[in-house]
Amino acid sequence: MSPLVVAIDGPAGTGKSTVSRGLARDLGARYLDTGAMYRMATLAVLRAGVDLGDTEAVAEVAARAELSVGYDPDHDRFYLDGEDVSVEIRGDAVTKAVSAVSAVPAVRTRLVEVQRKLAAGEDSIVVEGRDIGTVVLPDADLKVFLTASAEERARRRNDQNVAAGLPDDYAGVLADVQRRDHLDSTRAVSPLRPADDAVVVDTSAMNQAEVIEHLTKLVRERAGAQR
Ligand code: C5P
Repeated sequence: MSPLVVAIDGPAGTGKSTVSRGLARDLGARYLDTGAMYRMATLAVLRAGVDLGDTEAVAEVAARAELSVGYDPDHDRFYLDGEDVSVEIRGDAVTKAVSAVSAVPAVRTRLVEVQRKLAAGEDSIVVEGRDIGTVVLPDADLKVFLTASAEERARRRNDQNVAAGLPDDYAGVLADVQRRDHLDSTRAVSPLRPADDAVVVDTSAMNQAEVIEHLTKLVRERAGAQR
């Protein structure tokens, strides 16, 4: 199969990361998690102690931060200024602040540029995010937009939290899912929406293996059509 670029977008809690990783593994492709890059920029901002409302200062910190990522779907590591921050970027502090940081236009301009460089290359790649099909890689061979109801996404996220030893708090998780959906879909720059030519897949009633299988089939059809 010739190298393919697959864009996978959608809101939090659709199983996007697991599905994107699984698809990359099935295709023998590289995997790029752009959400983790916004999380790294956010961690840099929090560490610098700048006010999240000071967009100029936020943009300056994000521009200076040295972000380095791995492509292995089974072992993706993230380095901020040379330090492995893979665990810290998933923490509460970063999760709460990331929507504000990712809404700053200058932050997006810089990260989109870095993401395009990272996605280039001879090997196939699965790129996961919010604006990959619309902004970062509008020429992707296949664009997928994953959706699921807010309630279903909150239930999945809460189950994950409980499994990881965090408190059982469905109502709190649902409120957070709705808050982030709202911020991500109403921001002025790159709001979360499917590209016109994206395949929209509702995962509410599918398990992750079914979604991966469905997407692998779509990719193979697309690759066949290009020959
Ligand atoms: O995918 P994940 O939940 O880790 O993304 C964290 C946050 O980063 C999202 O809530 C969103 O605000 C932002 N993001 C973005 N554009 C992307 C990927 C993530 O704005 N391409």
